[in-house]
Amino acid sequence: MTTLPDYRRWRPAPLIKASALLHAGAVVATILRPEAWPWTAGAVVTDQAMLTIAGLWPRSSLLGPNWKRLPLEIAARREMAITIDDGPEPKVTPAVLDLLDQHGVKATFFCIGERALRHPDLCREIVQRGHAVENHSLRHRRDFALFGLRGFVREIEAAQDTLAAITGMRPLFFRAPAGLRNPLLDPALCRLDLRLVSWTRRAFDTFDGNAESVSSRLLRGLNGGDILLLHDGNAARTTGGDAVILDVLPRLLDTINAAKLRPVTLRSVIT
Ligand SMILES: [Zn+2]
Repeated sequence: MTTLPDYRRWRPAPLIKASALLHAGAVVATILRPEAWPWTAGAVVTDQAMLTIAGLWPRSSLLGPNWKRLPLEIAARREMAITIDDGPEPKVTPAVLDLLDQHGVKATFFCIGERALRHPDLCREIVQRGHAVENHSLRHRRDFALFGLRGFVREIEAAQDTLAAITGMRPLFFRAPAGLRNPLLDPALCRLDLRLVSWTRRAFDTFDGNAESVSSRLLRGLNGGDILLLHDGNAARTTGGDAVILDVLPRLLDTINAAKLRPVTLRSVIT
């Protein structure tokens, strides 16, 4: 069991605190020195640009806590995590589950709420076979990063309720669609008691169907504590027409085994 910060109470990240102070200072400066408005406006615009860039950088912790790796004590035990996004997908997920079973490996599936509703039996099978289902939003909207606080809570809570009702297990982790967000996601996740997860390395397997290059991206510097990201839903296809994850998993799992690393689910780290 790992000691984690209290996620129920929102604590603004240093960049958010600095940004709030800057905005308050800009109001005071505009009242006291209105003639300096170009400088004041420039400072506010620069600050907004920094917040936007931080939201477009999936592995950034500038907007709040963000798991890019497993905690150090878990890494020291040579444990790591395989995470699989955008399912469940009936043409791919069953074969992924078989490959994981063959290697005795447990993974974390970040499922989309609407897809889980379409394939509830498959979603339940993921959990019944010892894996974890976590929250990847209800609809996987492309404009997710433009949502406000209420929009985030509504979208993510609907996925929480959907996934919990189907699997009997309430998600503990959230991954943003494409990893993109804004400063209001962190307070929304605190309200729902969810932890944000990005990744150590991602496969880019939604548009690269070459198993060789996808594998080498994931395996470069492979080590304990790594969080790897692949896709069963929205997967790119190999020249043979298969979802690339099905070609990548056997070599990935063999290499992980040879390196004496042990894949674990994210929730096993905190429960
Ligand atoms: Zn996704």
